[in-house]
Amino acid sequence: MTSLADLPIRADLRGLKPYGAPEAQVRIALNVNENTHPIPEAVAHDIVVALASAIMSVNRYPERDFHQLRSSLAGYLGHGLIADNLWAANGSNEVLQQILQAFGGPGRTVLGFPPTYSMHSIIAGATGTRWIAGQRDANFEISPQTAVDWVCRETPDVIFFCSPNNPTGTPLSLDTIVAAYDATEGMVVVDEAYAEFAPEGLPTALTLLPGRERLIVSRTMSKAFAFAGARVGYLAADPAVIDAMRLVRLPYHLSALTQAAAIAALAHATEMLAMVDDIRVQRDRLLRELPKLGFPVWPSWANFVLFGGVDDPNALFEALLAEGIIIRDLGMPGHLRVTAGTEAETTEFLNAVARITGQ
Ligand SMILES: *Cc1c(COP(=O)(O)O)cnc(C)c1O
Repeated sequence: MTSLADLPIRADLRGLKPYGAPEAQVRIALNVNENTHPIPEAVAHDIVVALASAIMSVNRYPERDFHQLRSSLAGYLGHGLIADNLWAANGSNEVLQQILQAFGGPGRTVLGFPPTYSMHSIIAGATGTRWIAGQRDANFEISPQTAVDWVCRETPDVIFFCSPNNPTGTPLSLDTIVAAYDATEGMVVVDEAYAEFAPEGLPTALTLLPGRERLIVSRTMSKAFAFAGARVGYLAADPAVIDAMRLVRLPYHLSALTQAAAIAALAHATEMLAMVDDIRVQRDRLLRELPKLGFPVWPSWANFVLFGGVDDPNALFEALLAEGIIIRDLGMPGHLRVTAGTEAETTEFLNAVARITGQ
């Protein structure tokens, strides 16, 4: 048997680990921040009708620049955005990869602020972009001054922010994004995968786009939109950024079926997002109840909660798994992360934690 170490793989990939969230088949999966509510049946029906129509033309390549989907996404986001400002790919992970293919790569650097989404550094590695780990302030925050200090010290080609941050849930102020933007000549990317779970009425980085052609806001249909299995992520930016994406994408990267399904789902955005309020209620319940069980929590604007005070994270993870509940052990000392599920799932999780820890 050959192992990876025996192959003539790129030297910079040697010893790297692939993205590794476990994929156990369990009763209650609260480990990868999916929307655990299935999509409404009436919407599913409309999507199937759209797919049935699209399948009749799969002998042809799909529309390469997916104008209709980009127009649907622009309509969903609002903020005066039009199709020319939008781009999409098979998950926002692919969007982030295309960004680094165009603006990073060998000899270039990307600055991020761990603990953050593990894919940011993995995609950096896969695209040959050197990852620079900046340091956050206390409580996982990043002040404008801290961001500027790191940008001035490292002069990165790309900066990755994550707002609210995964895995901590921490919001990021627009002041920090603006300060970093003004301090760099590189691209500034704000990963807003969880934006829909933030308190309503607060401005997103989308409001910063006008006049900032080096700013990119990435979003996904995987989380709030309950569409993780369909693989649709997107970005909003200046049309010149979209031109850059066209240089690195593979032709026809978004299948006709993906485009049809996403367009049909976006036509039902209100129904697709109906569960977001409910999920926020369960998140707030986790924020309230976990401390009562002896586990201090970090404030979260996302659909998950990072909690501390865990003597042996692996032991608690395994004990929950034995009860058919999977959460996430990120290797952060004393910490675990749990996704806000349905009311019943959240109840089962809290009851199991109470039972296991003898409360
Ligand atoms: C889940 C997640 C994504 C989503 O990735 P997709 O490829 O769109 O499913 C992107 N960024 C962050 C921070 C995430 O947590």
